Amino acid sequence: MKHIKTNILMKNPTQVTLPQHQLKISQLSKTYANGTKALQQVDLNISTGMFGLLGPNGAGKSTFMRTLATLQEADSGAAYFNDINILKDKHALRNVLGYLPQEFGLYPKVSPENLLNHLAILKGILHKKTRQQLVASLLQKTNLYEVRKKKLGGFSGGMKQRFGIAQALITNPSLIIVDEPTAGLDPAERNRFYNLLAELGEQAIVILSTHIVEDVKELCTDMAILNKGQILLKASPTDAIQMLEGKIWEKHVAKAEVAELKDNFQVISEKMFAGKPLIHIYSEGQPLNGFRQVEPDLEDVYFSKIFGTTQSTVLV
Ligand code: ADP
Repeated sequence: MKHIKTNILMKNPTQVTLPQHQLKISQLSKTYANGTKALQQVDLNISTGMFGLLGPNGAGKSTFMRTLATLQEADSGAAYFNDINILKDKHALRNVLGYLPQEFGLYPKVSPENLLNHLAILKGILHKKTRQQLVASLLQKTNLYEVRKKKLGGFSGGMKQRFGIAQALITNPSLIIVDEPTAGLDPAERNRFYNLLAELGEQAIVILSTHIVEDVKELCTDMAILNKGQILLKASPTDAIQMLEGKIWEKHVAKAEVAELKDNFQVISEKMFAGKPLIHIYSEGQPLNGFRQVEPDLEDVYFSKIFGTTQSTVLV
């Protein structure tokens, strides 16, 4: 009997129920005093998992993240996390929130163990044994246990970011917001950080803002592209790529040709490849002039939206 039960469970992994959280944002807007429209009627629905918010510098990502983290006010709109009204009930939201800002200060002479212990006391975890167990598990989860007694001042960029996540996890949050976390990390550190975030996305909504397409491609099950305060695309990376199937063409060209090509085609990206420009264009049909059809990737999706060669798309 026992044997049969085990088999059924193994064949039916959907029986494992993960916590289903919902973040619903509607018509969220923010204009700064100098007239900059940082968010313009942003609508987004986000469920448990890793969500990538992709956009260039100045797109409005930090404004969006800080507003959700209750650190600044929106002008209008609504934002709910499950049944918590984020814009009105900031205290309730902060109890379930883990936030890793773009830049954060660390006490350089303190060890991660001592700082986490101190922060846990500030969060009200007063029972010493509980706190010690929590700190040890956070250090293990973020792969910092071995260096728990070293000074934070000597940590690499990746180690500091992992410490940032450790402190954000003290309250076991169900909404985790990380603002541009991989900027400045080397590839090995970035990978380690990806693994950590992916694990968190199994239990919580993790929103990751980034201008690095690779971050979203590697990690996220759902994504949006934000530019000039507006959502240009909301889709899974896979669906977004599929929408461009058969429409992306590339060609190696001479530098002198680039300007003319831009006049005649919807050029979505221009990269240097072995010292020569490699152009990607968007075209519904076969363009003349020796272009070769290529499999679209997330960079094509990103640049075609940012440079306005395809319409705004929201897939729900
Ligand atoms: P991102 O995080 O995508 O780089 P931000 O949210 O930081 O974008 O900024 C969006 C826009 O709002 C930018 O044009 C930026 O210069 C402007 N901005 C951000 N913060 C302020 C502020 N406190 N006052 C005025 N303008 C701001």
